[in-house]
Amino acid sequence: MHNHIQLLGMRQMSQGGEKFKCIEDCGECCRNLRGNLNKSRLPEYLSKIKQLSRTIGIYYLTIPARMTILLLDWEARQLDRMAEKMGIVFRYTPFMAAKDSRSDRVLVLVWNMDHDDCPFLDERSRCKVYDDRPLHCMSFPISTVGNRIRSLGEGLCPAITSLDELGGKASPRQVDKIYPGCAKAAVGLNGAVSTIVDIFSESALTGEFSPVVGESHRIIRKEVNQGIELIGFVEWMSKQTGESIEVVERSLREASYPFPNS
Ligand code: SF4
Ligand code: SF4
Repeated sequence: MHNHIQLLGMRQMSQGGEKFKCIEDCGECCRNLRGNLNKSRLPEYLSKIKQLSRTIGIYYLTIPARMTILLLDWEARQLDRMAEKMGIVFRYTPFMAAKDSRSDRVLVLVWNMDHDDCPFLDERSRCKVYDDRPLHCMSFPISTVGNRIRSLGEGLCPAITSLDELGGKASPRQVDKIYPGCAKAAVGLNGAVSTIVDIFSESALTGEFSPVVGESHRIIRKEVNQGIELIGFVEWMSKQTGESIEVVERSLREASYPFPNS
């Protein structure tokens, strides 16, 4: 069966090889972030949340209605440094995290931007950190659900013309030819999160980390709100391995790029 992405690709190529291009000064995907979650993904998201907390003790600490831009640990810290230099108020909160039963602190695997409108969007609707924007921003309007490519911008991005069945049988490479860099970033984000979860799971198996399993999300969220000690994934890994923060960051970044530019 032909899928929409292939048909869209054929149509665009036949009209002169046009590819997806952001509309200049648009910035719609950087505003009203908490309202932008694609509702069709919620059931999948909620069942994943429950499963992970019961099996390996990973909790989603941002409720679906407040989900915004996902930030890998090194991205959150990089944006934090840039915000400080620019005099911008920038907040981020734990998104995926695990509580250590031995040290009574919370290890944050992935963060979430804590703003309705991104503070890096300027008055002309341009990104002030464009070259260093997070993978989640680079991927828009494409996303992954498991290994499938989907559209994230349904009803939001005015530049997409075909919104349905982006998954289908199209590979990330095919999608990336039409949405240059977007599918690659989406797959990269997915790969980075999977790598982080794999490393965490292995640490739990070997006893390097002793996660609290089967707790209620609400209780862990409450403890975080009450100020329980947080540690970011890169800092934790650096302590575990004895490698510097820079080396850990680099190896995790490299794990985020599954296929080269074509
Ligand atoms: S990706 Fe779509 S919504 Fe976002 S700035 Fe570009 S055109 Fe606008
Ligand atoms: S970092 Fe840049 S691209 Fe990402 S939401 Fe903010 S303004 Fe938009």
